[in-house]
Amino acid sequence: MQYIANPDRYQKMEYRRCGNSGLKLPAISLGLWHNFGQIDSYENARNILQVAFDNGITHFDLANNYGPPAGSAEENFGKIFKQDFIPYRDELVISTKAGWGMWDGPYGDWGSKKYLVASLDQSLKRMGLDYVDIFYHHRPDPETPLEETMGTLDLMVRQGKALYVGISSYEPEEAAKAFEILKKLGTPCLIHQPRYSMFDRWVEDGLLDLLQEEKVGCISFSPLAQGLLTNKYLKGIPEGSRAARNRGNGAIEEGQVSEERINKVLQLNEVALERGQNLAQMALAWILKDQRITSVLVGVSKSEQLLDSIRCIENYSFTNEELNRINNILK
Ligand code: NDP
Repeated sequence: MQYIANPDRYQKMEYRRCGNSGLKLPAISLGLWHNFGQIDSYENARNILQVAFDNGITHFDLANNYGPPAGSAEENFGKIFKQDFIPYRDELVISTKAGWGMWDGPYGDWGSKKYLVASLDQSLKRMGLDYVDIFYHHRPDPETPLEETMGTLDLMVRQGKALYVGISSYEPEEAAKAFEILKKLGTPCLIHQPRYSMFDRWVEDGLLDLLQEEKVGCISFSPLAQGLLTNKYLKGIPEGSRAARNRGNGAIEEGQVSEERINKVLQLNEVALERGQNLAQMALAWILKDQRITSVLVGVSKSEQLLDSIRCIENYSFTNEELNRINNILK
């Protein structure tokens, strides 16, 4: 059936300016790391994307290696894009990345010009796009000169293959160097994509201050700690959940759903309920309370989770008492 986007899609979502740029991103963005691969249900993936866009989520985040197998999330996205989203291309911000191992040999990993140029060309082909809105270097490369990697991001913009560029998982010191190089080249860094959740607060130790100073946006990945910060694991590990699927590649494993974690989750859940939210909504709101954050980048295995999580924007202000309680629980 022909997809027609909900005409009210822009009524409820909030859009935040990304750093000092002209681009705004939805407070909630959708990531395609899991649930969009060849081994996943195509119709479910399609439904998630439609529900997302119908609710004002204009930003879809991919990477060359999402799947499994690597590349298949971009391929599936390309098929769905062709089926449903071509008329809406100018309403979408589509990002992809390279920096983790993608193909065999010395040119399929890290941050060389050789790798990144080939990878973006492959990504564009898989997705059937002329350009991506944001291209990221996915992780720092300790061996390739930063000038080469950042120079390649600048090149992509000049070639029209990416509109903006970003970096992911760079620590403050190397991020600052990258910003400096990009600024000199005339392609300022749009955005940084770090992991950030109640359970992983490393960005509070310098990175968020740097991003504010440099006027670079911030989109936090795995804001629900891959599902831990929801009510999903309160009574054990449910069948079909990410922890039960055990797919490796950085995905949450059974051992990470520890008693100590669940104990904290139970206490956080109490705070959430008192605020009139569920835990997923509170965990996302807790990130969005900080205006230095442009967007929270969520993943979902079904569209109902997205509809549930989206409601976090109804209340992202916290009293000092709530914040203190949360800090004490997380200690
Ligand atoms: P989340 O922390 O949002 O975890 C998503 C998982 O949480 C879902 O798959 C689902 O688990 C569960 N979930 C989501 N919403 C709900 C809800 N309302 N109620 C109950 N459970 C819920 O994010 P991800 O780890 O998926 O990461 C998001 C995106 O960030 C990725 O898709 C990718 O785009 C990006 N990313 C970037 C990285 C980088 O290096 N730059 C690394 C990792 C991610 P279940 O599947 O069990 O149902």
